[in-house]
Amino acid sequence: MKLTSGLGGQLTIDLGALARNWSALDKVSQGALTAAVVKADAYGTGIEMASKALHAAGARFFFVATPDEGVAVRTALPDAHIFVLNGLYPGAANLYIRQNLMPVLSSMEMLEEWLTKCVERNEAYPSAFHFDTGMNRLGFRLNEAVVVRERIGRLGYAPQMVMSHLACADIPNHEKNRTQLALFSSVMNQFPGIPASLANSAGLMTGRAYHFQMVRPGIALYGGRAVVGRKNPMAPVVTLHAPVLQVREARTGETVGYGASYSLSRDSRLAVIGHGYADGFLRSLSSTNSRPGAKVFLHGKLCPVVGKISMDQSIVDITELGANLPRPGEGVEVLGPNVSLDEQADAAGTIGYELLTSLKGRYNRVYVGNGYMPGE
Ligand SMILES: *Cc1c(COP(=O)(O)O)cnc(C)c1O
Repeated sequence: MKLTSGLGGQLTIDLGALARNWSALDKVSQGALTAAVVKADAYGTGIEMASKALHAAGARFFFVATPDEGVAVRTALPDAHIFVLNGLYPGAANLYIRQNLMPVLSSMEMLEEWLTKCVERNEAYPSAFHFDTGMNRLGFRLNEAVVVRERIGRLGYAPQMVMSHLACADIPNHEKNRTQLALFSSVMNQFPGIPASLANSAGLMTGRAYHFQMVRPGIALYGGRAVVGRKNPMAPVVTLHAPVLQVREARTGETVGYGASYSLSRDSRLAVIGHGYADGFLRSLSSTNSRPGAKVFLHGKLCPVVGKISMDQSIVDITELGANLPRPGEGVEVLGPNVSLDEQADAAGTIGYELLTSLKGRYNRVYVGNGYMPGE
């Protein structure tokens, strides 16, 4: 394809597909509020543009990881409800209050700092509580539920929402899901009448029992696979094209790239593309003669990366294209409808989440599908 902007690679983000993915998940979770997780620059798609598109589709509750991300969403969306998953950063309460951000409180220290601020200003600033039900990541311990309830009861304070997070939701019949569901339900007994939230994308797809009052999808919004072993029903959002820099002929027995880790078993035609690990083309997508790496899509065919991916370039075997040669400057599809995020992540031995959030390289971002109207 012809690159439409600048000379480097081009990341095309389909905001219409993003909005449709949100609406599709909102249908599945009918009866619960459907939030949108936009942490890590909206999984690499651009937090401001993504948040606005999700808001236009109907999202009103947003989850970010850090207060800085919260400020970015607040700037884009003055009326959004914004939760900060990493919690209250020490000393930052005034910022949260000024920006109307809700910390997801996950320890007694965080809770005390927030309540102290509330008492000092004589105002019940909203927050959420996070209970750990089996990850040992963030969250109050289960046996703190009673202490937390008593502490806020004395003040007459109530959180906006109480949440937990699933460790194994990508495997729907993993027994840990049922264990966490039961533990979370027991926590909620301590907080009658308070909205509850447990499900990420995979939890949302696992069943109604996991929905409670709010679901928190992230990866599925951006087109990534949430549940393993099932067809991914989401529309792709991200397409990445990298420019061809040079086409070259090489002979049988010659080696390709650093470490001479790939040697050609036939006379070959190679395309050097301007896309390397500094652009998020993970080095684990390199290939050797015995281990395949990434494939890219060019002129109707999937072409394999040969040898090691360098910082700024990688090398693709295009012998199979015959005389149908690409020109320097032409775009090669590295991610998109023909090279899915999930396939590329599998080839790299990682998950779509990591591939997406690595896409912060030197290409131009182009947004399409921006005229999205709900119901379109
Ligand atoms: C990242 C995150 C989510 C979203 O998870 P996905 O698997 O991307 O849907 C939801 N909740 C919490 C606590 C998270 O950290």
